[in-house]
Amino acid sequence: MAFQKAVKGTILAGGGALATVLGLSHFAHYKRKQVNLAFVEAADCVSEPVNREPPSREAQILTLKNTSEFDVLVIGGGATGCGCALDAVTRGLKTALVERDDFSSGTSSRSTKLIHGGVRYLQKAIMKLDIEQYRMVKEALHERANLLEIAPHLSAPLPIMLPIYKWWQLPYYWIGIKLYDLVAGSNCLKSSYVLSKSRALEHFPMLQKDKLVGAIVYYDGQHNDARMNLAIALTAARYGAATANYMEVVSLLKKTDPQTGKKRVSGARCKDVLTGEEFDVRANCVINATGPFTDTVRKMDDKDTTAICQPSAGVHIVMPGYYSPESMGLLDPATSDGRVIFFLPWQKMTIAGTTDTPTDVTHHPIPSEEDINFILNEVRNYLSCDVEVRRGDVLAAWSGIRPLVTDPKSADTKSISRNHVVDISESGLITIAGGKWTTYRSMAEDTINAAVKAHNLKAGPSRTVGLFLQGGKDWSPTLYIRLVQDYGLESEVAQHLAATYGDKAFEVAKMASVTGKRWPIVGVRLVSEFPYIEAEVKYGIKEYACTAVDMISRRTRLAFLNVQAAEEALPRIVELMGRELNWDDSKKEEELETARKFLYYEMGYKSRSEQLTDRSEISLLPSDIDRYKKRFHKFDADQKGFITIVDVQRVLESINVQMDENTLHEILNEVDLNKNGQVELNEFLQLMSAIQKGRVSGSRLAILMKTAEENLDRRVPIPVDRSCGGL
Ligand SMILES: Cc1cc2nc3c(=O)[nH]c(=O)nc-3n(C[C@H](O)[C@H](O)[C@H](O)COP(=O)(O)OP(=O)(O)OC[C@H]3O[C@@H](n4cnc5c(N)ncnc54)[C@H](O)[C@@H]3O)c2cc1C
Repeated sequence: MAFQKAVKGTILAGGGALATVLGLSHFAHYKRKQVNLAFVEAADCVSEPVNREPPSREAQILTLKNTSEFDVLVIGGGATGCGCALDAVTRGLKTALVERDDFSSGTSSRSTKLIHGGVRYLQKAIMKLDIEQYRMVKEALHERANLLEIAPHLSAPLPIMLPIYKWWQLPYYWIGIKLYDLVAGSNCLKSSYVLSKSRALEHFPMLQKDKLVGAIVYYDGQHNDARMNLAIALTAARYGAATANYMEVVSLLKKTDPQTGKKRVSGARCKDVLTGEEFDVRANCVINATGPFTDTVRKMDDKDTTAICQPSAGVHIVMPGYYSPESMGLLDPATSDGRVIFFLPWQKMTIAGTTDTPTDVTHHPIPSEEDINFILNEVRNYLSCDVEVRRGDVLAAWSGIRPLVTDPKSADTKSISRNHVVDISESGLITIAGGKWTTYRSMAEDTINAAVKAHNLKAGPSRTVGLFLQGGKDWSPTLYIRLVQDYGLESEVAQHLAATYGDKAFEVAKMASVTGKRWPIVGVRLVSEFPYIEAEVKYGIKEYACTAVDMISRRTRLAFLNVQAAEEALPRIVELMGRELNWDDSKKEEELETARKFLYYEMGYKSRSEQLTDRSEISLLPSDIDRYKKRFHKFDADQKGFITIVDVQRVLESINVQMDENTLHEILNEVDLNKNGQVELNEFLQLMSAIQKGRVSGSRLAILMKTAEENLDRRVPIPVDRSCGGL
């Protein structure tokens, strides 16, 4: 049966690929449909979810405590762990999953957001005639198609451009990319194509023109990684898995096997991180899916075991959307130091990053200034000199730790296989390690197959190919129009809700509060420039959000898109969460503090603010200093030597601009380095110097002062005789 399936898949794949290469798109499409039908067949075998809505966290914890023995207990709520829980529960196994922090708080929310086969791995497979690498790419391409199918609201194909700077690269890359299409077969998203230099610049006008010969465009998938992870967790919960976030495994339970007399892992001691309460969860089989913490849990089982996971860290930065075209990414497989560089449009912003470097494992990886600057320098090489790449345009940054499986023969992380391993210890602990986001489903299938075999569990084959994730089943590309028509939401907000919650977007819309305006009727935004609305905070709690950090980073993605906007949204988010979760004032203060620290250290706010404080030297031309001093004194009308919010308010009122006091405080606070509630002349000059060097951008005070000054200068003074007053 499995063999027949494999043969059928290969024939279909081969036919589709041939059709794609020959340009017979109808045939390719027809073949693709047949594969999709196979998906649906598999998914149809799964019974309906047992819960209409995922049970509350409290209800899940009660199930964890009261179940005498689960078939499977998964440790880790990243993509891999949640994938294992969904695979197990849909095979009919009694399943539990515990996550120490929030679902997807680890590597799975910090990825490049690509759903890909790995063009580079295919290149390696061919150059080194490595069949393992080839199989890995093939499998990933199958998984890519499946993921786009089962969560269409959270994922989409993305065209990616490879710029070509030397003529000989053109046939070389073209053959490589065509092979990529060919290996994908019927799972090929869209056929790749070559662009002349002028066409490449039409698509990517900000690209550096010099030496550009042309470009090749190929397709991979892109997704909202944390939301995808959450969709897997919620789907598992709806099928009946007892899942709990903020539940840490502190030790493994063992009992003696009556047949062999050996100690077997029989569950785990769990600690509710939010309350400190500890209790045991018993299970026939325990699965370690803890990503970079793989070896920590393996050592709980056997303290002398040798490490199998070699972590490596990758940093990403987020820049404004204008750095890349709205729907075309760019990838260069060979940078100045041999690493890969990419910049990709994501959620109307641009993500830039590069391949990883070895690191130590930590819960809270921090992006370094050095890494941020390395990426900025690389980005500069690709963009036209008309586009000034400024440090101040880095809106957010993060570091993610890749759980690579160590190859003892290699010293270089780049050559370590991205493939996964399923390891079964002497005492029956099953570890799933390595792999990548794209292949989480097949990794989970392999893991549960191993668990079923090793622990004699009664379960059928995997059912997750074609199984819709939460929100995917009734989503359609036009769903957002109904949200606009039925609820009176802004079109941008409706599109965002449909792309985040899929068919569950209606539930969020129902919770949306009235704006009091003629249009939009409902949907109060959390911050003006992002389509996140207050109702999402209320809905996020139903999706197991427990902290303000959960809300800004994984329910909404504000922290990943713009740290400053996330900080501004925080007080309102904490207020709304506090109302739902009965937080008192000190709990609200604690949440604010923790979330601010998270933004400061983990999301690049530190690096951003240090652009003003650490490099405090003022390097301006004397003529600029004179100009800025004049501007400063126009605001500091009574020559105090500093500007307060009263000064700013007075000038803004004189040009008919209204602003509430909170906003004025925020604006001043961004520049008030010594936090004494006022901006002194040297602080202002420091700001202008940082702006000139491109280290700071988007300073509201600087832009307001410049605009107000221009407006003030333009206003013709009213002669005394027409002013209806005077002496
Ligand atoms: C920078 C970067 C970019 C990447 N880009 C891509 C990409 O574009 N496409 C792609 O396919 N792959 C990509 N990957 C790889 C992919 O992100 C990872 O392979 C995947 O997210 C790993 O998921 P995981 O569930 O194994 O690990 P994690 O997401 O880290 O999950 C492990 C979880 O285990 C929990 N845990 C640990 N110890 C305990 C305990 N004692 N008790 C309970 N819970 C515990 C952790 O809190 C954590 O949430 C990228 C990786 C990196 C680093």
